[in-house]
Amino acid sequence: MSKLDDNIAKLDGYLARFRDTGIRNRIAGADVAGAGGVFQTISPVDKSVICDVALGTAPDIDVAAQAANAAFPAWRDLPAPERKRILVRVAEGIEARAEEIALCECWDTGQAFKFMSKAALRGAENFRYFADQVVQARDGQHLKSPTLMNVTSRVPIGPVGVITPWNTPFMLSTWKIAPALAAGCTVVHKPAEASPLTARLLVEIAEEAGLPPGVLNTVNGFGEGAGKALCEHPKIRAIAFVGESKTGSLITKQGADTLKRNHLELGGKNPVIVFEDADLDRALDAVIFMIYSINGERCTSSSRLLVQEGVREDFEARLVERVNNIRVGHPLDPATEVGPLISEEHFTKVTSYFDIAEQDGATVAAGGETIGSEGYFVRPTLFTGARNDMRIAQEEIFGPVLTSIPFSTEDEALHIANDTPYGLTGYVWTNDLTRALRFTDKLEAGMIWVNSENVRHLPTPFGGVKASGIGRDGGDWSFEFYMEQKHVGFALGPHKITKLGAL
Ligand code: NAD
Repeated sequence: MSKLDDNIAKLDGYLARFRDTGIRNRIAGADVAGAGGVFQTISPVDKSVICDVALGTAPDIDVAAQAANAAFPAWRDLPAPERKRILVRVAEGIEARAEEIALCECWDTGQAFKFMSKAALRGAENFRYFADQVVQARDGQHLKSPTLMNVTSRVPIGPVGVITPWNTPFMLSTWKIAPALAAGCTVVHKPAEASPLTARLLVEIAEEAGLPPGVLNTVNGFGEGAGKALCEHPKIRAIAFVGESKTGSLITKQGADTLKRNHLELGGKNPVIVFEDADLDRALDAVIFMIYSINGERCTSSSRLLVQEGVREDFEARLVERVNNIRVGHPLDPATEVGPLISEEHFTKVTSYFDIAEQDGATVAAGGETIGSEGYFVRPTLFTGARNDMRIAQEEIFGPVLTSIPFSTEDEALHIANDTPYGLTGYVWTNDLTRALRFTDKLEAGMIWVNSENVRHLPTPFGGVKASGIGRDGGDWSFEFYMEQKHVGFALGPHKITKLGAL
C-alpha cells in the first residue's frame, strides 16, 4: 500500500464518526446543536461533503459566552501549577493525536501533509511554551515612591473570543487559545466556517486533559452570524482575531458598543528583497519556500519579489525552472508540495489574477493555469515584469502566486517595499551588514528576517503594522493582551492628606 493510500484509509477511519454525528458546537463540556441548523464542510480535494456542521448564530454565542463567564472565576483562581499541569496535558494530547489532526486538517483545507504533519506538533509547542509561563504571568513590579509602596500585578481580563481563519487553522487556534488559557481567561472559539474539523479535535483534547467544562467553548458558524455576535457580546471582554484586513475593521466596529479590546492579525503583501551581493542560492530556496509552501495561503508569505537588476534575469530563470517543478497533487501524498486551494470562492479569486496580470502588462512566466476539475488545484504561478502599482503587487492574492518586480538602487527597493497598505513581514537578502541595518531600520513591517526565511521563535513578538494588524503575540506580549495591569498603592506612613472642609 502506498503512503497516500495508507493516509486515505486512516483518514477514512478518523472521519467516520463525523459522518454519523456531524460536528456539534461544544459548550460547557456538552455537545449542542446549532440554533441555525447545519451547514456542510466541503473538501477542496474533490469537492465532496465531509460532514454537517452545527450552524451557530447569536443565541448559541450567548449560551457559550454565559458558560465562559460562569467558568471564569474558578479557572482564574485555580493555582498556577494546576493550570500549568492541565496545559501540559493538552500538549501531550495533541502530540498523541498529531496524525489524526494532520490528516483531518489536510482534507478540510487542502494543505499538504508535508507541512501539516508538523502543524499539530507546533500547536503542542504553543501549549507547552505558555504552560511554562503560567506561574509568572501574574507577577508585577514594586515601584516605590516617597510615600507609597506601589505594587502592580496582572489579572486575566475575563472571558475572551477567539476568531480564527482557515489557513493552518489548528496551529493558529492554539497560538491564540494557549496564552488565553495560560493567562486564566476562558474562551469562546469561533473557527473559520471553511475548516471546522480540527477545532473540534482541539476542544476534545483539552477536555480530556482536564480542562473544566466552559473554559473552552467552540461555536461553529459564519462571520456575519456567530462571529459578529461574539464581537458584540457584553460578557466577552476581548477578541483575538486572525483574518483579512477588511474583517479586522468590522471586528473593531462590532466591538465598539461594548468597548472590546481587540487584537488584530491581518493580511500581508510581504516583500522579499534580493540584492546583488546576496547568497543567491539560499535566497532562491527561501523565496520559493516562503510563497509556495502552505499553498501560498499564508499571511507571512513573501508574495512580492524585489530583485536587483544585475542578477534579475538569471534569478528569474532559475525561479521559473524550480516553480515548474513544484509537485502539485493530493495533499495526503507525502511527496506533494502544493495541494488544492481552500474553496471555490478562493479558487475563483486566485485564478482571476491570471487575467489581471496580463491586462496590467505583466508576464505570466510560470503557471497561470488551473489543474483538472476534480478539486481546486492551480499551478504554482510566477508573474514577472511587474510594477508595484499593479493589482498583482498591491492586493493580497493568498495563493501560490509570486509577483516579481525589478529594482536598481537600494532607495528604489525601499520605496517599492514600503509602497503598500500592508506591513506584516519583510525578508532582506544581502551580505552587506550596514545595508541590512539601514534597510531594516526603514522597512515598514512588524517582523523582518535577514538572510533567512520566516523562522518563528515563540518568545519574539509576532504581528504587523499598517493594514496588517494591531497588537503582538508571543512571549509576554500575549499576556499583555489577555491580562489587565492592576496597581495598588500602600501608604508607608502618615503622609499629608489635604484636608477639605476641615476647620
Ligand atoms: P476572514 O477575515 O474572511 O475570516 C476569518 C475569520 O473571521 C473566520 O472565522 C470568519 O468566519 C470570521 N469573520 C468573518 N466576518 C466576520 C465578522 N463580521 N465578524 C466576526 N467574525 C467574522 O479571513 P480568511 O479568509 O478566513 O483568512 C485569510 C486571511 O487571514 C488572509 O488575509 C491572511 O493574511 C489572514 N491571516 C493573517 C495572519 C496574521 O497573523 N497576520 C495569520 C493567518 C491568516
